[in-house]
Amino acid sequence: MSLLETSKLCVDYGGVHALRDVTVSIPDKQVVAIIGANGAGKSTLLKTIAGLVRQSAGPVRFGGEDISDLRPHERLDRGIVLCPEGRRLFPELTVYENIRMGAYLMRDSRRFRDRLDFLYAIFPRVAERARQVASSLSGGEQQMVAIARALISQPRILMLDEPTLGLAPKLILEVAGLVQKIRAEGITVVLVEQNAKLALRIADYAFVLETGAVTLQGPSAELLANDRVQHAYLGGEGMGLLDVADVRVGRDEGQA
Ligand code: ATP
Repeated sequence: MSLLETSKLCVDYGGVHALRDVTVSIPDKQVVAIIGANGAGKSTLLKTIAGLVRQSAGPVRFGGEDISDLRPHERLDRGIVLCPEGRRLFPELTVYENIRMGAYLMRDSRRFRDRLDFLYAIFPRVAERARQVASSLSGGEQQMVAIARALISQPRILMLDEPTLGLAPKLILEVAGLVQKIRAEGITVVLVEQNAKLALRIADYAFVLETGAVTLQGPSAELLANDRVQHAYLGGEGMGLLDVADVRVGRDEGQA
């Protein structure tokens, strides 16, 4: 069953056609990767789904409802959460305060506390640093806080924009394992990644975006074996960072 759909979605920034007739269907409780080169429109797609960017054409449907006219906070209220590229934490606030920000729509303090305990168990390093200001954390730790903040409201769908950008290989594997844990919780994940090999190893299904249009889609395993994908996205420098065995470890850990 599809949780979220766009149909011939178009986004223009002035004269720039950032998305052209993008039709995607995101199945419920799966991990879906969006891969593509710089400027392909990946972030724009996530921002449009979150309501931060307005499309010029094409509806966005969530759980069967047309949400195109809903404000970002109304989409958040429905469980659509974006974890943006570059973490975007409040640097002078503590880790706890940053996470609290992600729950500003949550009125039930008991529910917040329970959810926080649950997340602290998944992110022990975040728990240890709860009282530290965010700016004093390493890049990897900040990424974990950003993901924890996105998860505090228990979203239906979590969109992660470049979660592994700038992270060391060990931390990249941690994020990969984390995505599997999130999926095991029944949360649908949309993963935007420059690291196509990693994304295709983690995801169930994937879309390839090229200059604002979907040019390929299919089960990740099929795209991994696809000649065009291999040539364009898997052969380049930096893409061989992780081998298959490494990421399988992440997956197994996540499902345990
Ligand atoms: P990257 O991997 O580099 O983040 P991306 O695939 O996420 O790229 P987008 O950030 O969605 O791509 O950008 C798609 C296109 O829209 C690019 O040509 C970009 O320059 C343009 N663009 C993005 N944001 C704006 C904006 N606010 N104003 C004008 N043009 C924009």
